[in-house]
Amino acid sequence: MAYKITDNCIGCTICAKNCPVGAITGTLREQHAIDGGLCIECGVCGKVCPKGAVEDPSGVPCSKVTKEQWKKPIIDKDACAGCSVCVENCPKDCLEIEDPKFHGDIHTVAQLMFHKEDACIGCMICSKVCPIGAITF
Ligand code: SF4
Ligand code: SF4
Repeated sequence: MAYKITDNCIGCTICAKNCPVGAITGTLREQHAIDGGLCIECGVCGKVCPKGAVEDPSGVPCSKVTKEQWKKPIIDKDACAGCSVCVENCPKDCLEIEDPKFHGDIHTVAQLMFHKEDACIGCMICSKVCPIGAITF
């Protein structure tokens, strides 16, 4: 089940501009629609919609959340194994693994870095895909 746009939509396009996977289509001032096959259920559309026109997968209308209140990932650097799964799955490229300082550098433990905090949309995908639970919200 994906997120859904109801007829409360006024076609302001904000959700379409913020969807990390381009799952939302629509014309200005026309009701927009979500392609369920593309939606990754990140919830961003529901957080930005000014009209409460987005329903979550259980049919509950989402409330607008100001960007300052969006949750951010908490990285447990001691637990992180540096596997990069989160880096590869982050739809906004907010994460990276620290590179070794020089060729043959065996001391730099692959550290996960949250290098583009402003771009983070709080979709929690990094936390969902981390195989060892090193990322929480
Ligand atoms: S839940 Fe996320 S991926 Fe799905 S339509 Fe909304 S913004 Fe796009
Ligand atoms: S943000 Fe809300 S009102 Fe605006 S286009 Fe998307 S669903 Fe419609």
